[in-house]
Amino acid sequence: MMRLDKFLSNAGIASRSEIKKILKKGAVRVNGNVVSDGKLQIDETADQVLYQGKKVEYETFVYYAFHKPAGCVCAARDALHPTVFNYVPMNAKQDLFTVGRLDLDTEGLLLITNDGALSHALLSPKKHVKKTYLAYLDAPADPADIRLFAEGIDIGEKRPTKPAELVIDQNDPTHVYITISEGMYHQVKRMVHACGKEVLYLKRLSMGEFSLEDTLDKGAYRTLTEKEMNYVR
Ligand code: URA
Repeated sequence: MMRLDKFLSNAGIASRSEIKKILKKGAVRVNGNVVSDGKLQIDETADQVLYQGKKVEYETFVYYAFHKPAGCVCAARDALHPTVFNYVPMNAKQDLFTVGRLDLDTEGLLLITNDGALSHALLSPKKHVKKTYLAYLDAPADPADIRLFAEGIDIGEKRPTKPAELVIDQNDPTHVYITISEGMYHQVKRMVHACGKEVLYLKRLSMGEFSLEDTLDKGAYRTLTEKEMNYVR
């Protein structure tokens, strides 16, 4: 069971506030009756909902937190490598996409969904969703790198990168934790390169509120609930 207004917004009819107007106009029928109250609880699998006379299909959203291994690509298909979609359930496969991308050799947390609005919210520059990576470098990082990351780095884009955080592992200064709030192409590798070093290994540890759980093995996924995803909306 769910609220009619939520059902309509999930189906992509309009935003919640616009749906109020649509309902007031009498454009929605549930099992043949005009309904103007968005709070009405409906059975999304059994009730027939019409908008302007057309049946509204119920769309189920799925959300996977996937531990991407190296060697698979974030693409629908690839001639050489397995894709990340080989690792998650097949049923909704056609509709699934990744929330942003990780490089072929990058490991770690990748969100996979068929919810375009949510993906958009997580990637929107306005939301500044933070992504934290563990990187192994070919040389020790130093305080000058921390300053460069904080100030913003020219990586050949129209503008420098936004302030980012670089934390050096006390036990091994070639190991660093990098937090960025943008998603430029190969951004972490290019920022490190601009500091005169190279990334040898890269793993995404978190994206927004989501962290890669220790219990999630490489190649494994966990289904997230819609509730868990709601914080971004
Ligand atoms: N930055 C990179 O350079 N590569 C990734 O896969 C993710 C962020």
